[in-house]
Amino acid sequence: MTEGTAEKHDSFIEHDGKGGMIEEFSGKLLVQQEPDASSFPSGGIRSTFEARGYSAWDPTSPVFIIDDTLIIPTVFISYSGESLDYKAPLLRALKAVNVAATEVCHYFDPAVKKVTSNLGWEQEYFLVDEGLYAARPDLLLTGRTLMGHDSAKNQQMDDHYFGSIPERVAAFMRDLEIQALMLGIPVKTRHNEVAPNQFEVAPIFEDTNLAVDHNMLLMSLMKRVARKHGFRALLHEKPFAGINGSGKHNNWSLSTDTGVLLHAPGKTAEQNLRFATFIVETLMGVYKHNGLLKASIMSATNAHRLGANEAPPAIISSFLGKQLSELLDHIEKADKEDLFSMDGKQGMKLDIPEIPELLIDNTDRNRTSPFAFTGNRFEFRAVGSEANCASAMITLNSAVAEALVSFKKRVDARLAAIKDDPLFATVPDGSPSGHNATYHAIIDVLREDIKTCKPIRFDGNGYSDEWKAEAARRGLDTETSCPVIFERYLDKESIQMFESLGVMTKKELEARNEVKWETYTKKIQIEARVLGDLSMNHIIPVATSYQSQLLRNVERMSGVFPKEKANQLNARNLKLIEEIAERTATIETLVEELVEARKVANKIADEHQKAIAYHDTIAPMFDKIRYQIDKLELIVDDSLWPLPKYRELLFIR
Ligand code: ADP
Ligand code: MG
Repeated sequence: MTEGTAEKHDSFIEHDGKGGMIEEFSGKLLVQQEPDASSFPSGGIRSTFEARGYSAWDPTSPVFIIDDTLIIPTVFISYSGESLDYKAPLLRALKAVNVAATEVCHYFDPAVKKVTSNLGWEQEYFLVDEGLYAARPDLLLTGRTLMGHDSAKNQQMDDHYFGSIPERVAAFMRDLEIQALMLGIPVKTRHNEVAPNQFEVAPIFEDTNLAVDHNMLLMSLMKRVARKHGFRALLHEKPFAGINGSGKHNNWSLSTDTGVLLHAPGKTAEQNLRFATFIVETLMGVYKHNGLLKASIMSATNAHRLGANEAPPAIISSFLGKQLSELLDHIEKADKEDLFSMDGKQGMKLDIPEIPELLIDNTDRNRTSPFAFTGNRFEFRAVGSEANCASAMITLNSAVAEALVSFKKRVDARLAAIKDDPLFATVPDGSPSGHNATYHAIIDVLREDIKTCKPIRFDGNGYSDEWKAEAARRGLDTETSCPVIFERYLDKESIQMFESLGVMTKKELEARNEVKWETYTKKIQIEARVLGDLSMNHIIPVATSYQSQLLRNVERMSGVFPKEKANQLNARNLKLIEEIAERTATIETLVEELVEARKVANKIADEHQKAIAYHDTIAPMFDKIRYQIDKLELIVDDSLWPLPKYRELLFIR
């Protein structure tokens, strides 16, 4: 429930009945286990007397072997049946979208038996030299630097992105990729990212459940392999201030067992009607649940990235590009009769324009859009680098499943209503009139939905202030506070969606939110402690000791030179001495205030309110303290400064 992985190892040792032991193995052991679950966060679902949890094999995800141990991907369920992981609800969401999409496919091709949800993730990360990492308690304990002045050079030259890969890094990547391939993770791409020492690895897309497992596996593999090469892999979304953070773009699409990519344009008008259907209903899901989708990718760590001037903004919208926007506008605005034109002998013909796939791929890729159409898929870019993709995938697939269910219901209702319309009757010679009732009904519903979901479509600059105002006018969710955003999981529409699709119950959603709030609070709490400790026992002592050095110098200068000359020569040092005194005093006061604010927040019993207090009163103090420390970093003797600086962390490879 904390989005991480957990493992329990078992051997096959049993009593042999004669005072010794025997290794005994039956297949049953693989299928289900009963580990004690009491120490995992459960959001209050389990009291200790029913602390048992059950793990059950997920046969849709292959087993694999690490360190001579057979590892079996499992779901984890509580004694009372609630899911305690991200896998069980993900499997249910994938089933829901499969069922809903297959039924909609039947309007176009009755032979479709299954629709698969595809996920291709792109994992960004930083590498930092292991020795330097060990000397940064903030990196070690929180995953990010809580202080550190900008390096004189960082990403302004744009010379890292797609630049040549440094040798030690290349050796790490090769090793990682070989091990990943041996575990069945189909890694394909590696390159430098925008920030110095930032990189990306991506496999080809797979079935979503498998892709999620493979991402979790890759993240843990990455940490192990990095250490072998003298690196630490940083998966935090924002390890360094002032340069780009890390995300994990989730490329997502649906495809059929008959080999059709449902989010890719086709060659005929009918294929493009199907294409438009899946695009529009995806947008309907994203529009209706835009706040919830944001909640699904939000975390204390990803909050640093969203809304900052680099990554997707904290408002979910969708970029479609010119071609696709024109297609939807055409379906919406064309005179309905014109969409069905007469075409000689063949009777009626659908007037849905063709979209060359190549052109779509070339459409300007809007990097600011959190949910962008990229030719034959959508790219959900707001997902954090450290996140479990399952969280975003549960919500996205559920939202689209719900939209498809509603679409089908409305199309069927229209079909029933026009059943007796002579327009669709066969003509006297027995051949069809050419008016396909199903297509008429589909177009009716699509035209309605294209209008409804229009507010989610936005091709402009997602970073601009105008967009924030415009999005609010359109009724999109513009909330930026992480603990408040989590409330979206408990909205009536969210509970209704998850329950009706059988993905999660209200009780499960409530328990998960308790865990989310608690996790948020703990992360901020740890950062506050680390920042306070480092301020008091790293920064202030060092600044003070440099200040004493300066004071001694001033004294001695005064002993050597006549008063007036000495004053003149001491002017700069006296100013520094004063600045250090002022800054250290400010830091001290702020750290005291931070401790007091924590005491107040810790008294709040309700996890939700406590998380809000940590967000509103504690987190905002970090930057004020950091500001003072970063100024000190610039003036204190480099040989005394106790922490590796940004220029070392980011440029030593
Ligand atoms: P980018 O140009 O954004 O870096 P890539 O072309 O490298 O993207 O692809 C990124 C990921 O998207 C890869 O994992 C790729 O397999 C995946 N992908 C490509 N097509 C689809 C699709 N139709 N559905 C889901 N994922 C896809
Ligand atoms: Mg991409």
